[in-house]
Amino acid sequence: MSRFFSEKYKDLTPYTPGEQPQDMQYVKLNTNESPFPPCEAVIAAAAVSAESLRLYPDPDCKALVNALASVYGVSPAQITVNNGSDETLNFAFMAYCDADHPAIFPDITYGFYSVFAALNGVPYEEVPLKADFSIDLEAIMASRATAFIANPNAPTGIALSLAEIEALLRSNPNRVVVVDEAYVDFGAESAVPLVNKYDNLLVVQTFSKSRSMAGARLGFGIGSAALIKDLNTIKYSTNPYNINRVTAAAGRAALENEAYTRENCRRIMENRAFTVAALEKLGFACTDSKANFIFAVHPKIDGKFLYLELKKRGVLIRHFEKARIADYNRITVGSREQMEIFLAKVKEILEETL
Ligand code: PMP
Repeated sequence: MSRFFSEKYKDLTPYTPGEQPQDMQYVKLNTNESPFPPCEAVIAAAAVSAESLRLYPDPDCKALVNALASVYGVSPAQITVNNGSDETLNFAFMAYCDADHPAIFPDITYGFYSVFAALNGVPYEEVPLKADFSIDLEAIMASRATAFIANPNAPTGIALSLAEIEALLRSNPNRVVVVDEAYVDFGAESAVPLVNKYDNLLVVQTFSKSRSMAGARLGFGIGSAALIKDLNTIKYSTNPYNINRVTAAAGRAALENEAYTRENCRRIMENRAFTVAALEKLGFACTDSKANFIFAVHPKIDGKFLYLELKKRGVLIRHFEKARIADYNRITVGSREQMEIFLAKVKEILEETL
């Protein structure tokens, strides 16, 4: 830290992103990326747009916002687009939280929420997950704080029903509920149909997972026009050009090819069921994941040991040090071939160790 670093950030612990190794080719199942490339139309649109990189992009991203509005059945004024859903989430902390409006979220959830809270000087409460790793909705409903709910939750993959989300929205119409649906396309129910009914609902989604565009950094928020206006005030006060031309063009092309996205999601869900069944045969217990990852524990194998052994053998998965989940590993669902390699290596390790 330099002697110039602002006091207000001196205790900030940044988010630790999953490894993006450059040293060798891994079977990479650690950061919930899609194993499938973006569709050809996306690649072609990105290439064409690169020809006009000389020019600033459209700060309103009108064409992209209109395309999202028609896919999600809302008006363009109800959509904001950002540099990954991480940026939308940060803007939500900036817009809807302060000393008088603290944040609340589960103790085991997306690790960035506590970082965004700290970055923005927002007090926050972490509500412990129940013993079965489900979210303690009653506790969150009882609070008045701005709620951040990953649905499905990460890294458990467990989803709340739409009725549960609606109960949370109703529990206090005077606080914002942010539903982070980064993984919703892999089998959970989206809260987007509720945005016209509840003006305290912000749904956040991303092109990173189901649309195979993690590298493009494109996320969006859907809510009432008033909530979206707040987020755009923050956007225009930081970086109006937060979506570059290539990403905007790629995003539009992806939205014109929703059948490709749906088919990829179907394949991921199929591979998830295949891998969970195989892991359970090997003695693992897995949560009921509705996401593009599996959260698994083995009664006789230490979580960190398994992660390190797999890494040595060229397979990367994600291990978290947090005490309550240190025995678990999060495994991104990849192609069938990747999952077969992963399972073969796991079998190898079990045979050598047990
Ligand atoms: N929310 C959750 C729950 C996530 O796991 C992630 C991915 N790390 C994000 C949001 C952010 O995704 P992105 O910024 O790539 O849209």
